[in-house]
Amino acid sequence: MIAGQFRFFEARVVRSRRLGPTLTRITFGGEQLAHFSSGGRDQSFSLFLPHPGQDAPLLPIEAGPAWFEGWRALPAEQRAVLRSYTVRAQRRERAEVDVDFALHGTGPDDPPGAAGPASRWAAQAAPGDRVVLLGPAVADNRSVGFRPPPESDWVLIAADETALPAVGGILDWLPAGTRVKAWIEVPHPHDIQQLRNPGELEVSWLVRGADGSSQARQPQGALAAIRAAELPPGVPYAWLAGESGLVRALRRHLVGERGFDRRRVEFSGYWRRGASEEQLRAQASAGTDAT
Ligand SMILES: Cc1cc2nc3c(=O)[nH]c(=O)nc-3n(C[C@H](O)[C@H](O)[C@H](O)COP(=O)(O)OP(=O)(O)OC[C@H]3O[C@@H](n4cnc5c(N)ncnc54)[C@H](O)[C@@H]3O)c2cc1C
Repeated sequence: MIAGQFRFFEARVVRSRRLGPTLTRITFGGEQLAHFSSGGRDQSFSLFLPHPGQDAPLLPIEAGPAWFEGWRALPAEQRAVLRSYTVRAQRRERAEVDVDFALHGTGPDDPPGAAGPASRWAAQAAPGDRVVLLGPAVADNRSVGFRPPPESDWVLIAADETALPAVGGILDWLPAGTRVKAWIEVPHPHDIQQLRNPGELEVSWLVRGADGSSQARQPQGALAAIRAAELPPGVPYAWLAGESGLVRALRRHLVGERGFDRRRVEFSGYWRRGASEEQLRAQASAGTDAT
């Protein structure tokens, strides 16, 4: 247990459901999740997964504030796989949390070893599988990034499939009447989802490759589309998330070329092409992270 905004929650897979070629929704349950307190929007959390052959994720016995040092001191091939994910929905009365996983490298034509451990785990998850979440104990917490200042006239959203769950959470949360323009990149046309419209929602779906193949995964569509777009008048708030290179280019465009106030642009690189989350964490702690 960690005092403050976050704590550990033991949970199990209750069910999983394919939403489309890329995304699979896994519902976690367990009595501890009755105390999970999602703030909605883009609420993220840390997910601990077992390695193949383990029946539960291995964490230090003392899961206190120093858990990270304890976890890192365990052998890398045994300690739990640690990845970041978003709460797509929470049903507190049923102690359930839905998480949408973008699968990558798990298709029949993908080479062996192409998938990361989380993607591989999600593709095979079955009821009863054990996980641990390090998530919110209070709804107002640091892992909610979407915070439009009250005087915003409209909201710009740009995301790829890894941030689509967060977009769903944001649109569920926004008050009725909000004007939103969204650009969402997905690998396959059948990944397109029905999203809640909080008022005046205009979504441009950008499909990378009709066959969803990995060579079609070149996330530049949102940048070209936003560059070409005529944006609404008024004070914007922008939320950008997805592959780091795309997010960086989008932010540069909005702040540098469109004159958006940088304090009104919330951005987050959710993954980086060619680097696993461990490698990104190692670079960040060594101070060599370029994002
Ligand atoms: C705050 C936050 C919230 C997030 N929420 C979600 C979420 O709700 N759903 C979700 O699916 N993801 C989400 N992500 C992204 C997810 O954490 C990463 O995609 C993560 O790298 C997946 O772990 P992995 O073990 O599958 O791959 P890793 O072992 O981390 O990476 C292995 C290789 O796969 C590549 N890779 C990673 N992700 C993808 C991808 N999607 N497509 C193609 N190649 C990829 C890497 O560049 C690397 O080369 C979130 C990330 C952050 C920071």
